Amino acid sequence: MSQPDLHLRRVFYDAFRHFGGGRKRFIPEISEIEVRFYPYAGLHHTIRVRAGRVYVRIADVLRTAPPEVIRALSFLLVARLLARKAPAEQEQLYRAFAFTPEVVRASDIARRQRGRKVITSSSGRIYDLGKIFRRLNRRHFDEGLQVPTLTWSRRRAWSILGHHDSAHDTITISKTLDSRDVPEWFVEYILFHEMLHIKHPARIINGRRYYHTPAFRAEERSYPKYQQAQEWLDRVIRKRHELRARAA
Ligand SMILES: [Zn+2]
Repeated sequence: MSQPDLHLRRVFYDAFRHFGGGRKRFIPEISEIEVRFYPYAGLHHTIRVRAGRVYVRIADVLRTAPPEVIRALSFLLVARLLARKAPAEQEQLYRAFAFTPEVVRASDIARRQRGRKVITSSSGRIYDLGKIFRRLNRRHFDEGLQVPTLTWSRRRAWSILGHHDSAHDTITISKTLDSRDVPEWFVEYILFHEMLHIKHPARIINGRRYYHTPAFRAEERSYPKYQQAQEWLDRVIRKRHELRARAA
């Protein structure tokens, strides 16, 4: 862990200590807090708790912000998480900085440059991952899943069709599936699998990390087109072999 990382964790830890004494008591360990700068479009920050770990993402426009601004932001985010009121002076400090012309300009530029990539990357040429996610969330999860960052992979790869990154709360789906040759229910199935990773976090048993627990597998098999999806997966594996043979 680098020094700046540790410093950021401490800042958020202090904010938790500040608020943690109340009714909604929650003070994570420093090691359970992860803080990252993230290329959000504009001034947008998130804080989430998953399985007792805290994940903070700060818009990287603030990467060069003075320490007291990051500290003020930590109070605002932790207050938001714990449904508490942030101290007025921290609120003012953050706002005063966020609305300085330089910062407004920097976040405008970031929004313009990345807006397309970051915000609309969930809608592909053919399929819209956001739409499919909402449908699956309604049908299979009682709307219980928070929407992660959904994105199509930049490269067309048949090797990994989907990936869930819990630290960054992101699901990436291979761009090869954004095609008229691929039926929508198959894209849906791949996304469904990744959504199950959100619902069933990895479990550590005897020092090993298990991603596909029996509960995960059971629920996966309950997917209406599970059998057909397996057949499609077989086709994908064959296609992968063909491509490899051609490349060799
Ligand atoms: Zn998996």
